[in-house]
Amino acid sequence: MKPLHTPVMLAEVIHHLDHQPGQKFLDCTVGYGGHTLALLANGAKVTGIDQDVDMLEHAQARITEAGYADRFIALRSSFAAALEGERLPLSHYAGILFDLGVSSYQLDTPERGFSFRYDAPLDMRMNQDLAVTAKDLVNGLGKKELTLLFTTLGEEKAALKLAQKIVDARKVKPITTTTELANLISKTVPANGRIHPATKVFQALRMAVNGEREELKTALPAALRHLAPAGVLAVISFHSLEDAIIDDFFRDTPTLTPLTPAPIGASSSEIRANPRSRSAKLHVGRYNA
Ligand code: SAH
Repeated sequence: MKPLHTPVMLAEVIHHLDHQPGQKFLDCTVGYGGHTLALLANGAKVTGIDQDVDMLEHAQARITEAGYADRFIALRSSFAAALEGERLPLSHYAGILFDLGVSSYQLDTPERGFSFRYDAPLDMRMNQDLAVTAKDLVNGLGKKELTLLFTTLGEEKAALKLAQKIVDARKVKPITTTTELANLISKTVPANGRIHPATKVFQALRMAVNGEREELKTALPAALRHLAPAGVLAVISFHSLEDAIIDDFFRDTPTLTPLTPAPIGASSSEIRANPRSRSAKLHVGRYNA
């Protein structure tokens, strides 16, 4: 059976985290547990954070099945809140990993509403306890706010036109499903090659619903405070808006020495095997306390 989520750049992450048995690691995005399982298999202790209760349950089950439960601690939280708060049970980690965004498992669970490939309520919350869904944004924001959202978080050129269409359509009836929104977008902007015309708007909504840029901006400096001297920070990002935040952080943090001259991408064989890795960039740095 195809795994529900394939860890991205696993060999590169493990290589740079350079771990020894018994060391402590923090996986801020435990997801389906791919990277964490590889660390545990090599004898590490791992604390795993995820804000999605379903993902944590899956990860915990896989880890228990593999026989590593005694070296794993699960923490349900947003990573920014966990890193800034007092609940982290271990500190002075030898390495901290962020593998940003959503997992394939979340994307492929129709009722989570992340994907225009399935007909489902427009939800997109990673944390099921958040109050505001994508549906609330699509039906509640004004035309100007929608335009700004699609422009800044989606880099969508047709932002104004799309915002106008949405405002017109919801006067007749609220837009409540992924398909309704995707169809409205398809009718308004032409398809561009193999990329669905709704891709950018869906990305923008997901980032807004989950406050993704704010989370990352808060979490990166907070993560440094949890690293042991000479500990490694590894961040995998999937689009340019995240890359910009990480690049700025690396540039402005003299205590963080990049371990590669530039962020590294997945190998061509990995991209062939797992197309999701196509846009991945791994940023790694060593903390000199
Ligand atoms: N490395 C994992 C996959 C991670 S996918 C693996 O190989 O299996 C990213 C995961 O991070 C998702 O489960 C998502 O719910 C979680 N996530 C994303 N942003 C988060 C945040 N700000 N706080 C906590 N968890 C987050």
